[in-house]
Amino acid sequence: MKSVLIGVGQAGGKVTAALSDFDARHGFDAVTGSLAINSARSDLQSLPLDTVLIGGATVNGHGVGGDNELGAEVMRDDIQEVLGAIDGRTTAEAEAIFVVAGLGGGTGSGGAPVLVEELQRIYDIPVYGLGILPGRDEGSLYQVNAGRSLKTLIREADATLLIDNDAWRSSGESLESGYEAINERIARRVGLLVASGEAVDGVGESVVDSSEVINTLRGVGVATLGFAAADASSDTAANVNVVTSTTRRAVRSGLSLPDTTRAERGLLVVAGRPDAISRKGVEKARSWLETELETMEVRGGDFPLRQDRLASLVLLGGVADSDRLDDFLERAREAAREKEDDDDESSLVDDRIDGLL
Ligand code: GDP
Repeated sequence: MKSVLIGVGQAGGKVTAALSDFDARHGFDAVTGSLAINSARSDLQSLPLDTVLIGGATVNGHGVGGDNELGAEVMRDDIQEVLGAIDGRTTAEAEAIFVVAGLGGGTGSGGAPVLVEELQRIYDIPVYGLGILPGRDEGSLYQVNAGRSLKTLIREADATLLIDNDAWRSSGESLESGYEAINERIARRVGLLVASGEAVDGVGESVVDSSEVINTLRGVGVATLGFAAADASSDTAANVNVVTSTTRRAVRSGLSLPDTTRAERGLLVVAGRPDAISRKGVEKARSWLETELETMEVRGGDFPLRQDRLASLVLLGGVADSDRLDDFLERAREAAREKEDDDDESSLVDDRIDGLL
């Protein structure tokens, strides 16, 4: 799926850089354009991307701190410059735009939903949010910001792919020291999804197509992505089990929004050497997904790659039941209530977070 990536804020920029690098390193050419936008000059300087500084007149390159309302305001103030820069990077071949942001901060949290809304007005191709939720141990301001941002993002975007910052963190890895490793994992998984319609090492009937990713994400609200990989066996029959067990692991322990147990739609992409991808395994895994997630609409396709591992990538659109999302919303509401105690002005906060799903 030929995609344009727009990173907003610090996390958005870093994840966009990691995704673009992953795509280029593997020669997929699915990322056709990328851009980083921030109100903090110093965060932009370290990125190997084209950049736009916003809010120069208001915050003078110093960022918005954790103030996501100011983040939204500086995006609105400089929206023409931002749209101009995106226009130059969105060629006719682009099939989707991803707006990438950490939802707990200021610039990305406030700016991403404003940008998505503007892009929806201009482009006919789908505009997706790629939103990073704060981890459990992050402070209450992050939780409140993310709750507010998420609600608007879900409303404006064609779909919002959520990644919980705790989900793909290794045990013992602290969040700050682990960002680079987490970003690598995000880049690999989302990068494979984006590249999956761009099969480079072979074509065949069962090869997944961009339209299947787009149809899985059409109008679904929240989406999550699962991933697991294992060595392929030289024995074809054994690969039936490799495919089914990696698919089960992708859902049970590899989701970007863990503990998702029901979804409207699913897409299973099995990546690996064409002769190792077991048809029977893919069919069994698909029907397992239908039962497990209580959905009748699970698409499937191959992603032929010259590698000795088999990987299952499971995209779930329309997350209907997720303990992790419920937990997060509860944390956001709780933090909003605490904030309300300290600050009467924020009495609206609870309403903005309620009724999210
Ligand atoms: P902004 O620059 O004001 O938009 O704020 P940030 O992008 O720093 O957003 C803060 C949120 O993003 C927090 O929840 C952080 O945990 C998270 N975050 C910051 N940097 C990274 C990163 O490089 N990777 C990931 N996965 N999360 C990050």
